[in-house]
Amino acid sequence: MAGTVKAAILRGRKTVETVVEEGRKKAEKVVEGGLNTVDTVVEVSFNTVETVMVEGRKKVESAVSLGRKTVEHALLHDRSTMQAAVLHGREDIRIESVPVPEAGPGELVLSVGAALTCGTDLKVYRRGYHARMIVPPALFGHELAGTVVEVGEGAVGFAPGDRVVALNSAPCGQCYFCAHGQENLCDDLLFNNGAYAEFIRIPARIVATNTLHVPEHVPLEHAALTEPLACAVHGFEDSNPHPGDTVAVIGGGPLGLMILHVAALYGCEVIAIVKHDGQVEAARQLGAAHVVQTSSIRKAIRDTRALTEKNRGVDIAIEAVGAPEAWQEAVELVRKGGTVNFFGGCALGTHVTLDTNRIHYSDITLRATFHHTPAICRTALDLITGGRFQAGAFITGHAHLYELNRVFEKLMNRSSEIKTAIVP
Ligand SMILES: [Zn+2]
Ligand SMILES: [Zn+2]
Repeated sequence: MAGTVKAAILRGRKTVETVVEEGRKKAEKVVEGGLNTVDTVVEVSFNTVETVMVEGRKKVESAVSLGRKTVEHALLHDRSTMQAAVLHGREDIRIESVPVPEAGPGELVLSVGAALTCGTDLKVYRRGYHARMIVPPALFGHELAGTVVEVGEGAVGFAPGDRVVALNSAPCGQCYFCAHGQENLCDDLLFNNGAYAEFIRIPARIVATNTLHVPEHVPLEHAALTEPLACAVHGFEDSNPHPGDTVAVIGGGPLGLMILHVAALYGCEVIAIVKHDGQVEAARQLGAAHVVQTSSIRKAIRDTRALTEKNRGVDIAIEAVGAPEAWQEAVELVRKGGTVNFFGGCALGTHVTLDTNRIHYSDITLRATFHHTPAICRTALDLITGGRFQAGAFITGHAHLYELNRVFEKLMNRSSEIKTAIVP
């Protein structure tokens, strides 16, 4: 009896164990199946969520972009005034509300991205006028790049949203000088001012000949360097350079530094002659092989010549100060058969005395380069976009339009700033 019961218990246990085991297996299968299903469901939902998110983001972005365009358009067209710097006379710049410009036939209106301070503007600020460029009261500033916001009827090649650099002038294309490839000397050079403002109107002639597209990777403030750089490239090219030439550049202002940088990139051995401490480091950074720091002309001549073989003198001397003493100094720096470029413009009525014997018997070529041509402006922008030109080194400060007066006061006190980008 006991044996039967025991056997029955044993059988029963085995049955129970089998049942439990099978049950566990079934349960595991169900759990596994369930997990797989859950995984699939999660995966599918994730994909769905991601798709929805991507699409949603696209929709939002497109709405934002559309909204921004609408707002910009509204801002431009519903606003009758903008903030702009107006030059009233000597050291008298006022930030005023003036009418937002409108694009006439062939014209563009740009939203100014950056306007750069310039030695010419400083001269104008000091004197209160510029015979050829600006008569007060007038909008002020001429080195800029920006975004097209309005395209006048018949202005081809431009659309709202285009990033462009608009030069400060354009030649007529019809006069004797334009016909001879000397557009910088055009009898009817048209100048444009008004860069220190929220918006600027670009006249049809500048749109047609001297407004250039800025590649996406180039900051607008770098592109705004096209105008001064075009002057620098023009002055350098006019000096008949060859790679390996020794070039002395007198003056460590923005243009002196640009010329020396261009000369160094071209493969010349550059001697920079500067006065101020801040200019020494800048000259070195931009490629000067030697820096002569002095305000003594005699020392400048002696030290520069000492850097050439047998004190022969440099192949090319470029004056970028705009002072009669510096013009004389340039003539004393070059070797026999060398070239001098009087690049810096002196004040009206300035006269210089030069050693005619030296000029004649040493067979010295005298050049004086003014301004730029449309072809050279394109070369300058190519240099900026090409990457070797250190555009960033020339912009040493940023300021808001409202700070313009302070910026000019600082420039008057010979700060070490090269150029300040004014952002409206
Ligand atoms: Zn300038
Ligand atoms: Zn002309």
